[in-house]
Amino acid sequence: MDPFDSNNQERANLPRNMIENSMFEEEPDVVDLAKDSTAFPAFPALDPEEAVYEPRASRLLVRGLGENELDDDEEDYESSARLLGMSFMNRSTAQRPSSSPYVRQSPPRSCSRPSVRTMVVCVLFLVIVASMTMVLYFLPGCTFTKTGCRKPNSTAPLEPVYPQSTTGEPFPWAEYRLPASVRPLNYDLSLHPDLRTLTFSGRAVITLSVQHPTRRIVLHAAELNITNATLQVGSGPVGVVPVLEYRPRQQIAVSLGVELQTGQLCVLTLEYSARLSHNYDGFYNSSYISANGTRTVLAATQFEPLAARKAFPCFDEPSFKATFLVRITREPGYIALSNMPKAKTTALPSGLEVDEFEQSSVKMSSYIVAFIVCDFISTSTSVSGTNVSVYSVPGKTDQAAYALHVVTVMLQHYNTFFDIPYPLKKLDLVAIPDFLAGAMENWGLITFRETSLLVGHDASPLEKQLVASVVAHELAHQWFGNLVTMSWWNDLWLNEGFATYMQYTSLQEKFPELDIGNLFLSVRFRSMDKDALNSSHAVSTYVNAPEQVAEMFDSVSYEKGASILLMLNASLPGRQFEKGIIQYLNDFNGSNTVTEDLWNSITQVDVSPHRQSVSDMMRTWTLQKGFPLVTVSRNAGHVTLTQEHFLLNADNATHASTSLWHIPVTYVTDNCSLAPECRQNFTLTSKTGELKLADNVRWLKLNYKNTGYYMVDYKDGGWASLISALNASKDVLSSEDRASLIHDMFSLSRLGRVSFRQILALLEYVRSETETPPLSEALLQLNSLYRLLEKRQEMELLARMKVKMQYLFGELMSSQTWGEEANVSRQELRSALLETACSLDIVNCTQQARDMFHQYTMSNETMRIPGDLQKVVFSVAAQSDEGWTSLLQTYSTISFDAEKRKILQALASTQDVRRVTWLLRAGLQGDVIQTLELPLVVSAVSDSFAGHLFAWDFVQENWDRLTETFPVGSFSLQSIIKSTTSQFSTQTHLNQVQGFFSRLKDAGSQMRSAQEAIENIKLNQRWMEHNLPSVRHWL
Ligand SMILES: [Zn+2]
Repeated sequence: MDPFDSNNQERANLPRNMIENSMFEEEPDVVDLAKDSTAFPAFPALDPEEAVYEPRASRLLVRGLGENELDDDEEDYESSARLLGMSFMNRSTAQRPSSSPYVRQSPPRSCSRPSVRTMVVCVLFLVIVASMTMVLYFLPGCTFTKTGCRKPNSTAPLEPVYPQSTTGEPFPWAEYRLPASVRPLNYDLSLHPDLRTLTFSGRAVITLSVQHPTRRIVLHAAELNITNATLQVGSGPVGVVPVLEYRPRQQIAVSLGVELQTGQLCVLTLEYSARLSHNYDGFYNSSYISANGTRTVLAATQFEPLAARKAFPCFDEPSFKATFLVRITREPGYIALSNMPKAKTTALPSGLEVDEFEQSSVKMSSYIVAFIVCDFISTSTSVSGTNVSVYSVPGKTDQAAYALHVVTVMLQHYNTFFDIPYPLKKLDLVAIPDFLAGAMENWGLITFRETSLLVGHDASPLEKQLVASVVAHELAHQWFGNLVTMSWWNDLWLNEGFATYMQYTSLQEKFPELDIGNLFLSVRFRSMDKDALNSSHAVSTYVNAPEQVAEMFDSVSYEKGASILLMLNASLPGRQFEKGIIQYLNDFNGSNTVTEDLWNSITQVDVSPHRQSVSDMMRTWTLQKGFPLVTVSRNAGHVTLTQEHFLLNADNATHASTSLWHIPVTYVTDNCSLAPECRQNFTLTSKTGELKLADNVRWLKLNYKNTGYYMVDYKDGGWASLISALNASKDVLSSEDRASLIHDMFSLSRLGRVSFRQILALLEYVRSETETPPLSEALLQLNSLYRLLEKRQEMELLARMKVKMQYLFGELMSSQTWGEEANVSRQELRSALLETACSLDIVNCTQQARDMFHQYTMSNETMRIPGDLQKVVFSVAAQSDEGWTSLLQTYSTISFDAEKRKILQALASTQDVRRVTWLLRAGLQGDVIQTLELPLVVSAVSDSFAGHLFAWDFVQENWDRLTETFPVGSFSLQSIIKSTTSQFSTQTHLNQVQGFFSRLKDAGSQMRSAQEAIENIKLNQRWMEHNLPSVRHWL
């Protein structure tokens, strides 16, 4: 999946214990696993596979690197407790109240492999409990258990209590993860959405294979009204079976009178009805207004991560792969699309038609199943035997050409690169008018936001860059994610980190004119900024509850995942990385993996005698959060490198992180610093390391081109010599290296390692800078500082800062042209410079923008404003009454979505608070402004001086409505929290934000993004306390 606004919005984070808390209210104090033990003959004997699947990586995470480590006693206690039918989870929550509300829980362990010590403890405990039960048996009353007196012939010492299903009967399973006793082989799905009543009916015929003896079938279903259920075992008779439902975990179960035996096949048939979802997940209804003003309703799906269960009953976990046959009943004026090509259409006597799709030729996880009922029109081509089509609403078919071109090139490229041809006969890319994520990689039926797929003929290269990026990302998922899938969401990065990595590296190769490298560099900077916070998490991390799964879709899984792959590739010889990927895809084609599998495949392809384990290095990057700071101290030719955790500690406490990384350090020196051959390597695996340099070396720069995921601080005059070298000539380093010096310097200032004076000293060279990466990084950093000062109303400082920015960038700003610009990098730079200039109210910028807007309105909006200038021109225009009104008018009629979004951002940048309030409300209502655009509106409002407090008030007042539309954990909500709080830097605001989130309790107080917001404000506050005097002095 590609989250919304992948280019400029961070994938934030999220929550957790809503469900856990509700679970503890309703849940029994006895865990279900015990019921599977031999002590309870009503259910099959406990088999390792019957226990909930626990990915190896989770175990590694717990046992490997310090975080969340359980000591032996604790582990034994846990195992024993499980064997005795006690809920360790409850205990762990009750007994380990954390000072931070965001401490991770330890994963529930299967009791399939107890240690000897555990066994001894268990046996002793069982004997004691059995003896006590015998005593209790002779006592009158038997009131010690929830279920009352035990039957005299009970062989169980304790009757486990299951959660209560909707009918009041015990529900025979009490874990989030499904039991592994049966596996689905095939789903035969028939769906009939009614677009007038916005309901649908369905029939799921699921063929199951029994893996272990069991008396129950447990699967997922959410908000489905099941009307009939039958089961056929082998070739036996078809019998009606009762279905139990446990809503808090979205599970249903069939309990059986007879035990199913290993190897048996059975067919479970479920008939049901439901409402089409009104949010953006499951099987949801959407609509659009066509050119003639009529509203057309359609139905589409978005299942990742946990919403397939809202469309059909299923085993909704990625490792339960199966084949699918889909049938959809629709009205004749519509078309239906699904993962596979259509096999046939049958007319019904009612006048409706049924489309039947081919049974999938590949096994799929439930989250990549998809179907759409719509009236879209396609343009198609054939690529290496695959029929590729781009679908859009009828009025926008001319905007599909570019996407079709990109997918043609990229499909050929991936077919070769991965050395496994795309396995389906067709590939559809569909632009959906009302789609919350950026795109979703459903196999053979990729769905997109319109802005991520459609661009006009004269679109700017930057708009094309966005479309190409998203297409390249989703297409890479057809291999990474669809063909080989992570076993569980804890390793989501195997999907998302890889697709993100492929998106940047393959576009750089196939579409070099899109200059995607600059974007990848800045994405790595932003990822580190977020990963430096204490609220960050390891790449591969334990998740269980739905909110935990949702919060995995963040910058750590995507951008950090991609960054560490880039670093690994750069540190391996020759084509080892590429060969390793091919090996991995072949080894696990059609199945599921954990992170270690990837490292093993990449290690195996190294046939040299000095083969190094890739896992040894990479585990340090995936199993612990954050990244290292490497400090360079130099004494003549002796250089000492020291690593420590780069942790921005908001509470000012001295931290004693013992984390160590295997860092593939690279460096260049003034003797040779630009060409790839100049790069020298040094692997730092311990706390300190030493390297030797020639005495005549004047300076060295670590992290060549910033391909490593670490930051660097230079002691003993190291910064000074780099700064003086840059002042002599910026060309002594590559533009990526110059950008990385600027980025690291600002980050070190947040850490308290360098002074504001040093920042200014480094920035002095920027006057001679011409390249986009360092300039855009410097602008971004100074703009954030400017906005912080603005929100503190430091008016006098702002004036001085404006002078400073004009001094640094003024010449470049005034030399920008306002015509069409074909070069992406220059477009990026021009928009960054002019947006800054106009926001600082530099007269020649605002005047140019006004003139251009005037010409635009005079031409009846037919004149084209270059894509990269639209935002700045519209934003200047939106500051006047006339301009704002005219833009609002254009907003409701224009059909180019990229332009439309820039108009919306401009409208939201107004300083008129009545308009700000109106926009926020309109976004929530969803009539004039689609609700899915609300995060964009909130972000733009929060940036403006007049609007930022309104935005925060709006969030507080409308929290319940916001969380109905954007579930706790969604990107959208994370983005809303970040944009409304990230510019606070005072104690008053800190108290407000802390107070608000703590009052939310179950409705979001535990969200990681809430923790992040609080951390950020504290860090802003601390930076201001430490640096404001020197900012005053030096500006
Ligand atoms: Zn993705």
